Amino acid sequence: MTPLPASQQLFDRARAVSPGGVNSPVRAFRAVGGTPIFMASGEGAWLTDVDGNRYVDLVGSWGPMLLGHAHPEVLAAVGAAVARGTSFGTPSEPEVLLAEEIVDRTSAEMVRMVSSGTEATMSAIRLARGFTGRDKIVKFAGCYHGHVDALLAEAGSGVVTLGLPETPGVPAHVTADTIVLPYNDRAAVEAAFAEYGDQIACLITEAAAGNMGVVPPEPGFNRFLSEVCARHGALFVSDEVMTGFRVTRSGHWGLDGQQEGWAPDLVTFGKVMGGGFPAAAFGGRKDVMEQLAPAGPVYQAGTLSGNPIATTAGLTTLRLADADAYARLDAASARLRTMVTEALAAEGVKHTLQNAGNMFSVFWGTDEPVTHFAAAQAQEAWRYKPFFHAMLDAGVYLPPSAFECWFVSAAHDEEALSRIGAALPGAARAAARATAQN
Ligand SMILES: *Cc1c(COP(=O)(O)O)cnc(C)c1O
Repeated sequence: MTPLPASQQLFDRARAVSPGGVNSPVRAFRAVGGTPIFMASGEGAWLTDVDGNRYVDLVGSWGPMLLGHAHPEVLAAVGAAVARGTSFGTPSEPEVLLAEEIVDRTSAEMVRMVSSGTEATMSAIRLARGFTGRDKIVKFAGCYHGHVDALLAEAGSGVVTLGLPETPGVPAHVTADTIVLPYNDRAAVEAAFAEYGDQIACLITEAAAGNMGVVPPEPGFNRFLSEVCARHGALFVSDEVMTGFRVTRSGHWGLDGQQEGWAPDLVTFGKVMGGGFPAAAFGGRKDVMEQLAPAGPVYQAGTLSGNPIATTAGLTTLRLADADAYARLDAASARLRTMVTEALAAEGVKHTLQNAGNMFSVFWGTDEPVTHFAAAQAQEAWRYKPFFHAMLDAGVYLPPSAFECWFVSAAHDEEALSRIGAALPGAARAAARATAQN
């Protein structure tokens, strides 16, 4: 491993004042070993750490950086907005423009802005419960919807990376109304609704699972879910925090619902829509959204919700995310997927690479399709550790967990791809040589 003295020093100081030295568990290198790298700056597809090393970034701040880092037009718009004042606690124009942009692109008829994906899913669930007058919710094992108490049951992302069986601090009664089912399992969904249908407020699912690695919905699965919910008077909540404005201009709904003619009752967004700032939203059917205070009785609020800087960054990002940007992003992702598969195959590393649009991840030590959480967990995740470090040493920054999606941006050009191409053969060899003990 390359020595990283400045990162090491900052990490030592961070550990003294912050639990685990990080402000979000997925940033720690617990699953891959070593010191988390402190980044100092980013530009396009590249990150520079505090020791002066440059990396091609395949994390993209865990999704938001659709256009790459420090896009000049986003910076200019944010700079101009900052100069006008950073928060007013009143309505302001950028939040209206961003809401209009989201309503234009997606199935949502109305949206309410919040500051994180967690807040979006938490509020969507409260609204679904308020609207239906029911308590039970259905989620899928391996899907992550933020750290909402009721949704931490069998969650993906950092919960699976760290192998946490359950989270202390979530009382049993808080998850007692949460029904957890295997992803892509229609029979399990039918059975749960047959038994509890009249008590279920909503079913929430990632539009395509991206937090247990990438596990796309089987064809027609989301439509099936929306139909089952409709039949039982439950709301269908599509969590597009990761997929929204990333896999198409309309999110994952642009890959299924828009063509098939159905829409979720509620939908959540985050990540890309904040352009690197804390902005998120939930939205959906007008009759449901109008149950929210002050229009209706379901309470929901936020001091910084719709913040003018965050919404300006998000709006500028979405305006720049035109057909050309999505075409570049999709092409870079497709090239990269081929490069990864070829490099692993050349070293005889058994793997399954799965994608949902331009989001993808690798499952190690299997060549079967991975359709649900138990299969994702059964992978040889230990092969990822030496692969990750070999890529890092060669200047490619991957997510520090085998259970996370790889994020490409519209700024991943030839230079970025060729750096990755040069790093892959050595990393594939390291994965081939890996043993479960190392
Ligand atoms: C990231 C994510 C969230 C949580 O968003 P935060 O902004 O981290 O709170 C929720 N749902 C999905 C699908 C996500 O990927």
